[in-house]
Amino acid sequence: LGNVLRVASASLVGIAIDGFEAWRTGIESWETLDETTQQIAVARGMRLLARIPRPAGATIERAIAARAAAAVPAAPKPAIGAAVQRDAISRGAIQRPPPVAASGAGAEASEPERGGGADAKSPPKAKRVAKPVPRAAKPEVDVEVAVEVVEVEDPMALPTHSLPGIGPAFAEKLAEKGLETVEDLLWTLPRRYDDVRTARPLSQVLHSEGERVTFVGTVTSSRMIFARGRRWAEVRVTDLVATTVVRWFNVWAGIEKRMPVGCRVVLSGVVSPKGFANPDVLGIEVEDGPAKPMPTILARYPDVPGVPASRLRVACATACARIGDAADDGVPKPVEAAAGLPSLASTLAQLHSPASDTAPGVLEAMNAGTSPWQRRLAFGELFALGIAVAQRRRIRRADLAVPCVRAGDVQGRLERALPFAMTRAQRRTVGEIADDLGRPVPMNRLLQGDVGSGKTAVAFAAAVQVVSAGRQVAVMAPTELLSEQHFATWKRWAARLETWPVGRAASADRERPLRIEMLTASTPKGIRASMVALLAAGQVDIVIGTHALIAESVGFGALGLVIIDEQHRFGVAQRMKLRDKGDGQGAPHLLVMTATPIPRTLALTAFGDLDVSLLDELPPGRLPIATQILTGARGRAAAYKLIGERVAAGERAYIVCPKVESSEPDDDGGRVFKDATTTAEEVAAALPTVRVGLVHGRLDGLLRDRVMRAFASGELDVLVATTVIEVGVDVPAATVMVIHDAERFGLAQLHQLRGRVGRGGGAAHCLLLSQGALGEEAGGRLGVLAETTDGFRIAEEDLMLRGPGELLGPKQAGVPRLRFGDLAAHTELLLEARRHAERVLDEDPTLERPEHASLRQAMARRFARHAYGAEAG
Ligand code: ADP
Ligand code: MG
Repeated sequence: LGNVLRVASASLVGIAIDGFEAWRTGIESWETLDETTQQIAVARGMRLLARIPRPAGATIERAIAARAAAAVPAAPKPAIGAAVQRDAISRGAIQRPPPVAASGAGAEASEPERGGGADAKSPPKAKRVAKPVPRAAKPEVDVEVAVEVVEVEDPMALPTHSLPGIGPAFAEKLAEKGLETVEDLLWTLPRRYDDVRTARPLSQVLHSEGERVTFVGTVTSSRMIFARGRRWAEVRVTDLVATTVVRWFNVWAGIEKRMPVGCRVVLSGVVSPKGFANPDVLGIEVEDGPAKPMPTILARYPDVPGVPASRLRVACATACARIGDAADDGVPKPVEAAAGLPSLASTLAQLHSPASDTAPGVLEAMNAGTSPWQRRLAFGELFALGIAVAQRRRIRRADLAVPCVRAGDVQGRLERALPFAMTRAQRRTVGEIADDLGRPVPMNRLLQGDVGSGKTAVAFAAAVQVVSAGRQVAVMAPTELLSEQHFATWKRWAARLETWPVGRAASADRERPLRIEMLTASTPKGIRASMVALLAAGQVDIVIGTHALIAESVGFGALGLVIIDEQHRFGVAQRMKLRDKGDGQGAPHLLVMTATPIPRTLALTAFGDLDVSLLDELPPGRLPIATQILTGARGRAAAYKLIGERVAAGERAYIVCPKVESSEPDDDGGRVFKDATTTAEEVAAALPTVRVGLVHGRLDGLLRDRVMRAFASGELDVLVATTVIEVGVDVPAATVMVIHDAERFGLAQLHQLRGRVGRGGGAAHCLLLSQGALGEEAGGRLGVLAETTDGFRIAEEDLMLRGPGELLGPKQAGVPRLRFGDLAAHTELLLEARRHAERVLDEDPTLERPEHASLRQAMARRFARHAYGAEAG
């Protein structure tokens, strides 16, 4: 025993018990002590060790062993609570450490200073599966006492079956649906609430045929019926004035027991002359059965197939009761208060288990998703998004750029050179850009303008300003053809400028013609080599091109401005690469242009680090494009007839199909979509005198450009295409746009396609074809297009109907999926969250203050999967 005491006491460092140290020193050389001294030492030791706090009933040996097990020599001594906290925070799950709950050996539970060596040493890591794990550090002591120490787990990450009432089988079912941990249940929220208190007597609701009603009545008969090969549960309900029959055609075996004669029921269903079919059961009150109070408000969770609704409800509510208080989505308390929002804990509590005195009006708001609690959840997401965007913005603003100040009568000279007078919107946006370019921080601006609104002229104005300052401009377009078109336009305009002041000491005698070049994949090798050399030497003012511009070998002597046209066609990485070609003097300014109107909320998130300029005015003289929706073979015939007429009048037409070849699978059950290849043949047969071309994404890029060019030059009258033609090519003679299976496309995309015609100033037509009659939803959607040419209205509609992916294109993964926030509905909330995010970052730019620890963690957790910081811009 003496030896055990000695080894054990060696590990008990720093125990504040009088005489302990003296005693320990005394037994260090245990073997040399005589027997009497040994006996005295043991007796003293036992007395001393008895003073180590331990729960009643635990033996001293166990206490010693437990202490020894816990204490690892030389390790610093964070309390176990700290270790738990770290672990939990690394998951970002909770802020406060939970009470240290698990402990196998009774001894250590009440010991506040127990060393947490094992925890302190192993790096904190998230544990999804929590099983009792024996503590890693084995006791150094050779004691026979079995010490079982359970590692304390993050209660959020515990599996669902750790909750009372959830067995392994049920837990497995939940896991199949992605609900694995207690936390998963916590964030599974009801989608509807039924107010049992508004239940009316049966006789008062029976006249509201066709309506959904909640009523109360007494069961007078209850049985299963088997007839005509079917079986159902049939219950008669009365309120003494009226009687009705209620049938459940799904399960409900044992109805006699569950809904016995004489019980009161609250049901919610649609009134029909035949009674009620499959109503929701809100409550059953059995007269003298075990008292089970009728709920007043019933939370309805999303249907999880195979999981009974009532069990899911209990599971989620239990999870909330367990860990709801510890939930933390990173919103700092002061922000929560300033925004006038309830705490997260009370939010979760109210949403999972609404207070029984919740006013009916409040419940209505909850059903509409507009209650303060639902706003609180949305705010959490939008706030995190706001922080991410604001941080990105700050990083950008920290760069330095060479200011390119506008000097002299730039605008006047420019406008005299352009073949048209700028619109008011063009002048305004040119001014906004000019101001940005004159600052020593890089411009990050998004120029939004509907197709044909004249973005090119605005870009040209920005470019010549930068060239005046002696810096270079790179213009990147998504296709060769578009690059060529830009090149031709810019050369033409530059020629009309004749000479231009170039260089920082610009003065009349330093004027010279602008040097504009084009660099694409098809630029011949020799020319390319010399062009690369000229660019590097700063001998080219403006280079226009495709992806070829971002090649490693292309460098710039003094890149001052990057312009990206039709930005949605580029991946994020490609934009970044071009911007990274700045030189030692500073980062280049950035102007990205898009014709896809992006609703404000989306612009604030996906492009939140960009300032936005809006070209909200079309050049004068444009006629609105007459848009019609036509269906069936008749519609097709009418469309081809119109094409024949317009071509005869010297105009040209596009026909767009959803797929390339007939062999492609159709994504819609049973319907076969039109394909471009067959359609081209069909048109050629129907209109023998018309010259028909075909382009689609599967053609080689050069071949595709050649066909487009033939169409642009008038060698072809009709171009049958897939959506590859969506992007920016200007063919003024094109006046007809026919779109097959139009219901198959997004509204914004249709709007883009429509924008391809009517650029010549004459009347133009857009025909939206559908093979069959359109359903209400599709008809309404296309109706929006027929009704308006307002790209923003169309985009909002699209955002609402199809989500952000549709508008931003597949490459813009910049917007994380929101669970509670809604970019279409939460504009104001988003702006508010953004303001708060800015304020928090103003005070604590790196979020290093302790009160922001959980925010930092929440951010890491939310955006780890999205690499959000690298997106957009
Ligand atoms: P987008 O914004 O789609 O890129 P463009 O810059 O290609 O539009 O302009 C579309 C057409 O409108 C071009 O032919 C262009 O010359 C013409 N345009 C641009 N601005 C004006 C203006 N202020 N007045 C008249 N025509 C204009
Ligand atoms: Mg354009």
